[in-house]
Amino acid sequence: MSEEAPAAACPECGSPLTHVSSEVSSGAFRTQAASMPQIPIHYYDCAECKTCWKLGTRLLPDPVRQLLRD
Ligand SMILES: [Zn+2]
Repeated sequence: MSEEAPAAACPECGSPLTHVSSEVSSGAFRTQAASMPQIPIHYYDCAECKTCWKLGTRLLPDPVRQLLRD
């Protein structure tokens, strides 16, 4: 069972992002466990400006993956 990654454009340069992988967060947020929905996190790379992004509730830069890529 896999979650389809939505198409996304790079907030930095506007290029279409390449989907790399997805995972589902569990227990990462300090909300009440019983009512917490599992949020799929989608990871993207931008081929144009070499920025990594992750999309959960918002599209955010991912400096951790960015450093690992170098
Ligand atoms: Zn970009």
